[in-house]
Amino acid sequence: MSQLIEAWKRRKDRASEENREILKRLQKRKGKQLDMLADEVHDNVFKKIDCLDCAGCCTGIPPIVTKADVTRISKDFGMSPTEFESKYLTMDEDGDTVMNTTPCPFLLTDNKCMIYEIRPKACRQYPHTNYMDFSKNMRLHLPNASVCPAVFYILREIDSRMR
Ligand code: SF4
Ligand code: SF4
Repeated sequence: MSQLIEAWKRRKDRASEENREILKRLQKRKGKQLDMLADEVHDNVFKKIDCLDCAGCCTGIPPIVTKADVTRISKDFGMSPTEFESKYLTMDEDGDTVMNTTPCPFLLTDNKCMIYEIRPKACRQYPHTNYMDFSKNMRLHLPNASVCPAVFYILREIDSRMR
């Protein structure tokens, strides 16, 4: 595991107030300029963090699975959408359809995703810090900074570059 991920593990539980303060500052700068910077910082941080050393999202947050995801994945599995839904999906407390276990049933022991090429849209978009997604998903960054080391470092790098 990388030193950055180890350092995040040591810091994350005591960092929620600091994360809140950073997000309060960034909230005031929401918009295209912030999103362009976030996209650049996202790429920089993910050059230093390998998701295969982490799998925090796949082990900690059941992803939302849309109807289109079900159609695509069940077809690849040679199952009907209904069979796929009853075997792998459930409804969460917000009424969203999600994977029925954490860790995800498709997470392999080497942290690879068994269905990587056809994974749910939510998995492809996580952690919502690039492609002009940053400002739109402001409310997700606080909880995600405790799940995803990349978000933790992305917030800090954006904050220091915006000052
Ligand atoms: S489908 Fe793949 S990427 Fe998505 S949570 Fe499961 S293992 Fe992770
Ligand atoms: S939690 Fe973040 S760093 Fe970890 S695997 Fe998921 S996206 Fe990658």
